[in-house]
Amino acid sequence: MSQKIGGIIVIIVLLLGWALFTSTAKETHQETFFLNGEGRVMKTVKKTNEEWKEILTPEQYNVLRKSGTERAFTGKYDNFYEQGLYLCAGCGTPLFSSKAKYDHGTGWPSFTAPLDEKHIDRRPDYSLLMKRTEVRCAVCDSHLGHVFDDGPPPTHKHYCINSVALQFEAEGTGEISPKHREPQKGEKQSSETATFAAGCFWGVEYKFGKLKGVLVTTVGYSGGDVKNPTYRQVCSDSTGHAEAVHVLYDPIRISYEELLNFFFSIHDPTQLNRQGPDVGSQYRSVIFYHTEEQKTTALKVIENLNKSGRFKNPIMTQVIPFSEFYKAEEYHQKYYEKMRKE
Ligand SMILES: [Zn+2]
Repeated sequence: MSQKIGGIIVIIVLLLGWALFTSTAKETHQETFFLNGEGRVMKTVKKTNEEWKEILTPEQYNVLRKSGTERAFTGKYDNFYEQGLYLCAGCGTPLFSSKAKYDHGTGWPSFTAPLDEKHIDRRPDYSLLMKRTEVRCAVCDSHLGHVFDDGPPPTHKHYCINSVALQFEAEGTGEISPKHREPQKGEKQSSETATFAAGCFWGVEYKFGKLKGVLVTTVGYSGGDVKNPTYRQVCSDSTGHAEAVHVLYDPIRISYEELLNFFFSIHDPTQLNRQGPDVGSQYRSVIFYHTEEQKTTALKVIENLNKSGRFKNPIMTQVIPFSEFYKAEEYHQKYYEKMRKE
């Protein structure tokens, strides 16, 4: 009998040890991946407080990581109604659309619904001696605000969100709008290809896709040595591939140099193997040139940018010959558009 009890105790100790081991293993993971019900890969971002402090302003850190609240009527998106998407300021995940924004009169940006329920976590919050429902970003676990039941129809929800927790992205704008001209009479549409990598391909494709003169965009993987890689493989930073966007454009309407200038305006080319919260060589900045002419233009634009002092640090963008491009899984194509329609 005592042997049996001894055996049970050994098993319990082993189980506890295993649980402790797996929970600490999780804590040290930077990013984990899971498939949601629709087969979409969701990414979770985990960082130490020190890492968060590096990428956030003190105001953002106080709200996102310390569940603080900005003063009412002081946030930049309180009285702001441009068309576009509101992304998480911690990890860039699209959270709300301007279509769901309304004025609740309380001094914080208010929304009737999130873009995607799966990007929002709700938790009970008793901090002000009453029950409220806290809203957090499901991807990076940052505090965003609260949700109440006093919103307008059709949802009657009132997502009361701190401006500082959000990052607004206007519809189809980069910092530089390339010159665009309509083709003259008799000029036919032609097409050329350009391939770029500038961090997470969802946003890069979205931005290029809005440019006039850009005909087709496709997201995929390029620059590595694994054939037909999957998103999971590429995200594990073991394939050498970068998340890339293939751009078919009409050179009569938009030049390669204008595409390059746009490319340098939508990401930070001085970051090596990362873009903001996305870390790993799959997020590196690359120009994959298709012709010698593209190569010469790219090197010239980089040289001029380095001389201009526009960036504090030297440009780390790789300029390498295009070889193979593996189209990414269908659910990554036009990802932000898909999210908008849901
Ligand atoms: Zn987030």
